[in-house]
Amino acid sequence: MAMNPEQAAIARRRLGWRNQFERDVLARDSHICQVCEKPATTAHVITARRSMPVGGFVPSNGIALCRICHLIAKDSHRFGDQKYKPEVLYELIGSSFEMAMQEALEHSKRFDNPF
Ligand SMILES: [Zn+2]
Repeated sequence: MAMNPEQAAIARRRLGWRNQFERDVLARDSHICQVCEKPATTAHVITARRSMPVGGFVPSNGIALCRICHLIAKDSHRFGDQKYKPEVLYELIGSSFEMAMQEALEHSKRFDNPF
């Protein structure tokens, strides 16, 4: 289905947030997986993007992970691995759900249409 111009503008803006988020998180975490210390490949969104303004693409909601840790973290509830629970991931980067939500809300105020 084709996007109308407004939807296309929002999609471009979200892609910009995503790219900035990726760069900021990987740089902050020195491109090292914060769980297993292998080279990181991804900035993982800790709280699901639909549960937070601006898609949760703020550094306090992101953690650098390697490919394997990212796969597990995305499905942590299914794997039941305590190491990858959101609370644990937030603690590894000195953040929390509340801090991430606050940063996302502040970020969203800078835009007319956060989504
Ligand atoms: Zn890892």
